[in-house]
Amino acid sequence: MSTSTKGDESLIIVMRQSADASDIEHVVERLRDIGAEAHVSKGQFRTVIGAVGDRERIQQLPWEAFSNVERAVPVLKPFKFVSRDFQADDTIVSVGDVPVGSGHFAVIAGPCAVENKDQLYAAAEAVVGAGATILRGDAFKPRTSPYSFQGLGEEGLQLLAEAREEFGIPFIAEVLDPRDVDLVASYADLIRVGTRNMANFTLLSELGKQSKPVMLKRGFTATIEEWLNAAEYIYKEGNHNVILCERGIRTFETATRNTLDISAVPVVKSLSHLPVIVDPSHSGGHRHLVAPLTRISVVSGADGFIVDVHPSPEDALVDGAQAILPGEFIDLMSDVKALAALMQLSL
Ligand code: PEP
Ligand code: MN
Repeated sequence: MSTSTKGDESLIIVMRQSADASDIEHVVERLRDIGAEAHVSKGQFRTVIGAVGDRERIQQLPWEAFSNVERAVPVLKPFKFVSRDFQADDTIVSVGDVPVGSGHFAVIAGPCAVENKDQLYAAAEAVVGAGATILRGDAFKPRTSPYSFQGLGEEGLQLLAEAREEFGIPFIAEVLDPRDVDLVASYADLIRVGTRNMANFTLLSELGKQSKPVMLKRGFTATIEEWLNAAEYIYKEGNHNVILCERGIRTFETATRNTLDISAVPVVKSLSHLPVIVDPSHSGGHRHLVAPLTRISVVSGADGFIVDVHPSPEDALVDGAQAILPGEFIDLMSDVKALAALMQLSL
């Protein structure tokens, strides 16, 4: 470990259970006086203050001598506020009125892209009827080829907002460009950052400055540490409503579109307090793999899953090969409900 006093220091200041608002405010003020950032996290039993700032100035103050400070511990991990060191309790993110995390299991389903009203409504009616709690459907698609369907843009968001009224569940949609954050945030209940944009730090910071919850997919070549650092970009700007999504990584294996790294779920759950969900569609890439990978995700300790469902996959403009049919989703949901009961999850 370095003994240098130069550079940044991150410290977790754990308050005693008996600490009151003025004790907390006093610590926050002293941190701000020395130019450090202070992030307050109120847990069930105690408040924790995360400090980031100049090492020399932070180390100068005897934090444990402050009123009702229990201890001050340096955070050695590169990601700070998303770590379990900072917050021991699970974060629960509210998507519309749907809680996600800490035993609240999210079932997110719908078409990969919004193509037209009939397609969206047919998918929405089927998934809501079978127990989905959040609708998916994109208006902006990140396509490998610039000649492929790129999404309907704002018209797609309008259709999703109408579907929310019609079917009574919130929706998630992807944002690709920092210039579209306000537009997507004005419609969607949950904003998704796709695998290709996980390390688009400008986009992440913009999402951190607005208040809609964000789902951050893992970059297909990103380590878990890089992924958690990306989440930190959103969190540190003040938006604490972040859900992580494991969607497969690129390996030497070609039988699947990506290799679902299911071990990432328990690893991330041990390192971070944020909810983690799984995408069995974009990882497996084939219809017949969606049900087994979904079942595995329920028992992995994940906080939910997101799947592509299309009323007519052979006509899909995007990702038809991995979309399951409404009937297959209904069958899958009966397995999901049984496994969720085993895992003591509420749907
Ligand atoms: C998607 O969910 O539609 C998508 C594009 O996923 P990913 O970013 O994981 O490829
Ligand atoms: Mn897709």
